[in-house]
Amino acid sequence: MIRRLRMLKAGGCVVDASVLMPRRPRGQKIRLPIWMYLIEAADGLFLVDTGMPRSCVANPDYFKGTEDEGLILPEMTADDHVTAVLGRLGLRPQDVDAVVATHLHFDHGGGLAAFADVPVLLQEEEHALARRGEVWPECFPEGPVYRPYAGDRELAPGLRLLHTPGHTPGHTSVLVEPAGEAPILLTIDAVYTRENWEGEPGAFSEPERAERSVARLRELAQSAGARVFFGHDTEQAALPEWRRYQA
Ligand SMILES: [Zn+2]
Repeated sequence: MIRRLRMLKAGGCVVDASVLMPRRPRGQKIRLPIWMYLIEAADGLFLVDTGMPRSCVANPDYFKGTEDEGLILPEMTADDHVTAVLGRLGLRPQDVDAVVATHLHFDHGGGLAAFADVPVLLQEEEHALARRGEVWPECFPEGPVYRPYAGDRELAPGLRLLHTPGHTPGHTSVLVEPAGEAPILLTIDAVYTRENWEGEPGAFSEPERAERSVARLRELAQSAGARVFFGHDTEQAALPEWRRYQA
């Protein structure tokens, strides 16, 4: 069983809405939170995602010169780096038994360099992408012990990793069952916001797989009676039902 789930905010970024939702016009900016999740199971401590790389600290121009220039602007201070966030809880990266890399975008895999010798679980398809050089080098650094796997995986009783491709080929969502509570589905970037959950299409690199993944998550949430926490929703974190997980 899961003893504790903590939702850890790791900075944010300002994104042009058209990057997330193709129906939105260019020029509408939204400020997104970036999350990591610390999960204490009976037999291990697991961290889901590692936030942004240190090079995003005070650097909104991180994407300058790329196709995302002007569309994605990181908002990060040194306090938002994974080592600082864990440090405030009295933890070092090496205290974590394993990291789950849900995918290797800058806002999810950016802190991996701090996890030398720590196992990092990631989907085979995401690992293959990284090995082909199709992710930012900071999100696939030397040091961690990469443990690729395929399909779904039960990491611990009450902690299930779900392969939900579409946002990226190896994208992973997470189902957590805290002891004595209804399960919590962490969609990660399979569903960015409540608007996407309620039907507004998201922008995805593999739209058909993404659509199947969202349908699968909707079915699962219903059959498991799960509460759903979206990857980058702008309002959910302030809701009372989620505030206690951020303490
Ligand atoms: Zn993301």
